[in-house]
Amino acid sequence: MRVSRIKFVLATLAITLLFSSTPAIATEAPVIDYCAKKTTGKVRAITEGTCTKKERSLGAGPIVRGETHPSALVPQFKARYEAAKAAAKKKGHTLAITSGYRSLERQEMLYQRAIKRHGSAEAASKWVLPPEKSNHPWGIAIDINYGVGGTKGKKAAAWLEKNGYLYGLCRRYENEWWHFEPLVAPGQQCPVMEPYAS
Ligand SMILES: [Zn+2]
Repeated sequence: MRVSRIKFVLATLAITLLFSSTPAIATEAPVIDYCAKKTTGKVRAITEGTCTKKERSLGAGPIVRGETHPSALVPQFKARYEAAKAAAKKKGHTLAITSGYRSLERQEMLYQRAIKRHGSAEAASKWVLPPEKSNHPWGIAIDINYGVGGTKGKKAAAWLEKNGYLYGLCRRYENEWWHFEPLVAPGQQCPVMEPYAS
């Protein structure tokens, strides 16, 4: 009698421990996309379904190179820029893409021109990467307000540098205030800037 009672108590204890180790609240469903309102750029996370027609899909992670070179900016990257542009406008800043997607031929031309200007391939690469290294021909790099808008344009780019992470956009290089890439998921902190491209 006594032994069976002990067994019963132990069994109850084991069951209690087993169930208490499972969390009381189910873990949150993973975010499958971030949606930005077209008019304001306001971003919300979704865990199911798709963004509405009044929103743009920004993707749920960093945007990386595809299998093959595209012929324009990657759509979700463009959407991130448009979302940031709408939000910037509300703050009185105007964003404009000076240079976005570039064909491999154009990148090569710019690279060769930079070599002439800077004297060597190494020096040139700090400003213009060769076609196989640059993210412009992959449709995942944009130059913002470079050569347009003067001081105001530069200020707007500085706004993007500070707030771009909300849309998954990051300034990548210390020597290029105009160059942005979709390095993180919307809302995630951008990585530390690299001194220059190489
Ligand atoms: Zn660039």
